[in-house]
Amino acid sequence: MTIRFKLTMGFLAVILVLNTVLSLITIEHVSRAWLREVQSHVRLNLNSAREVYHWDKLQIARFLEGAALDSNLVQALLGGDQEQLGRLVRRLHTRAGVDVISLLGPDGRVICRARQPSSSGDDLSSNPLVAQAMREHKTAIGTLIITSEQLKREGPDLAERAELSLVPTAASRPADVTLQSDGMVGAVAVPILDADGRLIGLLYGGNLLNQRNDLVDIIRAQVFPNAQYDGEEVGTVTIFQGDVRVATNVLDENGQRAVGTRMSDVVREKVLGQGETFADRALVVKGWYITAYEPIRDPTGKIIGAVYVGLLEAPFAVQQRLVIASFLATVGATSAASLLLLLLVTKLVLRPIGKIIAMSRRVIGGDLTARVGVRPPGEMGELCRAVDAMADAVAQREEQLKQTTSRQISQSEKLASVGRLAAGVAHEINNPLTGVLTFAHVLREKPNLDDQDRQDLDLIIHETTRVGEIVTGLLDFARERPAAKTRLDLNQVIRQTVRLVANQPKFKKIRIEEYLSENIAEIYADRNQIQQVLLNLALNAGEAMSNGGALTITTLPHGKDIMLKIADTGCGIKREHLSKIFDPFFTTKPVGKGTGLGLSVSYGIIQQHGGVLSVESEEGKGTTFTIILPFYDPSNADDAAGEPSAGIQLPHEMAPITAT
Ligand code: ADP
Ligand code: MG
Repeated sequence: MTIRFKLTMGFLAVILVLNTVLSLITIEHVSRAWLREVQSHVRLNLNSAREVYHWDKLQIARFLEGAALDSNLVQALLGGDQEQLGRLVRRLHTRAGVDVISLLGPDGRVICRARQPSSSGDDLSSNPLVAQAMREHKTAIGTLIITSEQLKREGPDLAERAELSLVPTAASRPADVTLQSDGMVGAVAVPILDADGRLIGLLYGGNLLNQRNDLVDIIRAQVFPNAQYDGEEVGTVTIFQGDVRVATNVLDENGQRAVGTRMSDVVREKVLGQGETFADRALVVKGWYITAYEPIRDPTGKIIGAVYVGLLEAPFAVQQRLVIASFLATVGATSAASLLLLLLVTKLVLRPIGKIIAMSRRVIGGDLTARVGVRPPGEMGELCRAVDAMADAVAQREEQLKQTTSRQISQSEKLASVGRLAAGVAHEINNPLTGVLTFAHVLREKPNLDDQDRQDLDLIIHETTRVGEIVTGLLDFARERPAAKTRLDLNQVIRQTVRLVANQPKFKKIRIEEYLSENIAEIYADRNQIQQVLLNLALNAGEAMSNGGALTITTLPHGKDIMLKIADTGCGIKREHLSKIFDPFFTTKPVGKGTGLGLSVSYGIIQQHGGVLSVESEEGKGTTFTIILPFYDPSNADDAAGEPSAGIQLPHEMAPITAT
């Protein structure tokens, strides 16, 4: 799995989760807001429906109120002219076009009925509207439940219209109630008063609401003008008698008006049971509607039915789905866009990593010139820079190592050839020199020498002695003798050597400091040779600090080796001399002072002990020689005796250089 794949997957997961949550919340929110909006709309519609429903009865009231003022009617009533009254009432009925018009006496008894002139004399004073109008001498308007006998009295067709076979839908109601014969009437009772304001009769009229399809259609036309969806009316209106639809434009499965069906239990409980308005989505007959129901009460306040308006949910749902779909499309599009962007960005960001990997492979394969090359902005650029810098450093080290190695090899070769030459020359010079010195001494002992001769002889002896010293040094340098190695405490050898040099006059002004680690183990070495190396280095340091200074000798463990540092604060070594100081006969000291052999001899000794001698120096500040020697290791102590145990192997024909 690449980083890019992981990153992409991670971001994808985040985007998906975020978008899903966001979408769910938004959809939920939109749906709720939508429903609330439509519901408040439907509530307003319900108000309008109520107005229209009420207006229907007001029409009758206004009409009958006008008729009650008719002087002919008043005269006929006062005169008790039955025939004239019958005529007048029938005329009213024809003009008003309502279902029921009756003329009542002041006691509430029926004088005549417009449609059934023969049916009269019954007492309507128990009718709440009639009673109210008799009591208050004012028009009373309301909705009433009328029994089928009464309806028959008003007109047999009305009783027929009211009769409904019920559709057994609501489980909570007894299944045996299959027929409803009562009717619901929007009725008006108008008092007829004589000139003195006495009640002389009443006009009673109204419309049977059962199957009054024109009324619900008018209400719908008023409330939801031209609202159609898919060939279906969006708005619906129903008048309930009890829980039964008696007039409605809600259609059933067969496309018939769903008269005789019943309201759902939830609505029934709320509207008929608790007398409250119900406003919510509801299943109406066969479809979902956003509905509002309001109870209808009779004049005594009893709940006898309900008015309903409802909006088909489908068209709103379609719009809602459209909004949600466009929202989801937007979310999807932005997700896709961000993913694309992400892919681009990761490609851009991760490209340098690919380059770094490729470059690393080349470096591992040995191509030290390989570099990342690119420098993208930010941390990635830093990383590339760092990796390149690392490669630079590796290449530089490699180069340095090559140089050091070749220098060491040439140094060894130089030492070997010079050693052989020196050995030959030294042998040849040594014998005659001994002769010269011996004879010079003999001559010097003669009694009758003048001062000039004595001075000349002293000079000969002095100079010859010096040549002798050089020859001894050469022999030291070239002597082919294996080192006599033993277990050795390096710290102890150091302390001995320091005691030796400390008494020398040139160390008067020099402070000697020792930091010898007690944690170092022993080495396996030739005591004399190691002491010779220490002496050489200490004397060189002393000579470099002719005006005084500090000589610091430190030992410390260094992995499997001991590290020994001899540091001075003297004149330092010129940069151009650094590569030459280990050469035999290289010296910067005046003639007669230095032989230039000390460091080359020391170098050879340390190398023969499997160690390394190196130098660091800064002109004017001081010089530090560092010796690294392996710890004593019993497993190869015997084999190693007399052989260079490590370090640079000399070519086969060359004899190892030894010195004492
Ligand atoms: P010599 O001491 O006879 O000159 P060496 O081989 O001991 O020969 O040293 C070679 C040269 O290295 C010296 O002449 C001197 O220039 C330089 N040198 C060695 N040690 C030091 C030191 N501690 N400080 C400064 N220069 C040094
Ligand atoms: Mg020296």
